[in-house]
Parts: sequence; structure tokens; C-alpha cells
Amino acid sequence: MEKAYFPMKYYNLTQGYINSSTHQGTYALDNAGYDTGKDPIYAPFSCTVTKKYVKAGHAYTVWLTSNEKILTAKGTSDYLTLMIVHPEDIADLKIGQKFKQGDLVCHEGKTGNASGNHAHLELGIGTCAWHKNDYGIYMIDNAVKLEDYLFLKEDTIVKNDIYKGIKYSFKKENAMQDTDYVIKYTTTDLNERTGPGTNYSQINVLLKNTAVKVYEISGTWAKIEEGKWVSNNYLTTDKPSNHIKSMEVYNTDSLNVRSRENNGPIIGTIPTNTVVSVLQVLNDWTKIGPDKWVFNKYLK
Ligand SMILES: [Zn+2]
Repeated sequence: MEKAYFPMKYYNLTQGYINSSTHQGTYALDNAGYDTGKDPIYAPFSCTVTKKYVKAGHAYTVWLTSNEKILTAKGTSDYLTLMIVHPEDIADLKIGQKFKQGDLVCHEGKTGNASGNHAHLELGIGTCAWHKNDYGIYMIDNAVKLEDYLFLKEDTIVKNDIYKGIKYSFKKENAMQDTDYVIKYTTTDLNERTGPGTNYSQINVLLKNTAVKVYEISGTWAKIEEGKWVSNNYLTTDKPSNHIKSMEVYNTDSLNVRSRENNGPIIGTIPTNTVVSVLQVLNDWTKIGPDKWVFNKYLK
């Protein structure tokens, strides 16, 4: 099965989607390539041109849909569509035209109101077109994060992968799976931040006794997921004394935390995929911390 590749030789990020006004609500990445010129853009997988938007004064856009299911950097196999915005040389492309993986498709450009040559890239699952999102921005349907799904080829050169302090890093094609981690537990309610320092923005609060996977230590900070860091000073490898097992929040975007079982007052929420320590189970309710209870149904 083909792997889904990042479509350019140089990764030089000029805009991400967090704290970006023109990418609000999308997972778009702008790539300037090697320099200010018009770098080539290659087929990320064997694909067909499924849609094209070419209108004078507007940003030219082309959609490339995979001909088969493709192995993603996430480990899934999916049909994928890459949307490329701003090229100038797509007028002659035909709907139904096929490319083999690695074929030259077009070049970066600045059609529309782009300030310089770049490729605005978006990725979606399946055969998809676009729609206007809640911020009035056109974005690909079924959008997913490019950095989660595309591999960087071994010879792809990363010139920059940071925008406004946030890293958008891709997995190299031969990278090891992320199995190297240590399970630790929070010893207090702990701020989760986008980077290793208090100058990075806070994204969440992890409750005391939450189990986290630590992949990397930088100074006094621990990386628990790509773009998620907590202070290592408040982590311990010692399991909470009354720890029964670890479970994960699923099937809900955010799970209400209540001060007592049986629909007690809501005192906070925890996002999906968070791992919590089970301290006690009482009928339908699970105690995950001192005076902190959640409904069992959303734990697995
Ligand atoms: Zn853009």
C-alpha cells in the first residue's frame, strides 16, 4: 500500500491554523518551500484530479483524490483528497487526469490575495470538495490535520515547522512508532500547555491523579503528546495509593466532572482521550480524584 507523502521537497511553514485569522476553523498549512520562488508540488499518492477551481482574480485550487486506500502516518488506511490552493499553472489540468505518486502536478503560486508564492494545503478523508465554515472561510470537507496523516519522505528538508510558537511536525516515513514513553501521574491539578514553558498558552487543566504518557523531557517540562506539555515537577511515577486502574475518556468531546456521584454539581470537564486514574467505582459513577466523580459510560 502506498504511503501518503507531504507533496513538496522543502517544508517551510509560513502559517498554521492556531491563532491564524485566515485559517480559522481549518487545518490548513501554508508552505513556502525552499524560498520565495515557485517550488514544484508533487502527487502525494497516486491520484486523480477530482475538482478544479480556476477563476480570474480568485485563488486557483485543485483537488487530488487517491485512487486507492493509502497508508497514513496515523497508521490508518483511507481514501484521501489533497487540496492545493494558489498555483498559477493548473488551468490545463483536466478533471479525471491521473498522476502517479511523485509526479509533478503544479507549482506554488500566489493567485487570489496571497502575499507571496506558497502552497496552501488541506487534506480531507474520502473524495471531498469544500464548504464555507463558521468563520466564512472555504475549507476542504472532512478535514484532517496534514501533519497527522502525511509522512515526510526521508529526503524532505524541514526549514521551519513552527508558527506563532506552535510546532506542526510530520513523522518521517521510517520513523519508529511512538512506543517510547513512561506513564506518570499528576500530583496536583496541572496546566497543560502548547509548549515547554509558562509563556506557552494553556490548553487544558489535567486533574490530579491523571495518568499521562511522557515522551520527552525538556528542562522541567514533559511532552505528553505532540503540542501538549506539562510541568514535570508535578508528575510522579508512583501510582496514586488508591489507584485501581487507568481508563480513558471516550465517546464524548468533554466529560463533566462532578463533586459527588449521582449527578452532583459540575466542577469541571475533561477532554476526550484523557487517561484518568480510577480510585473507586460506585454503581454508575467513578471517582477519579478527591471529590471528583464522572459517569462510567464515557470511560473505557
Ligand atoms: Zn493559507
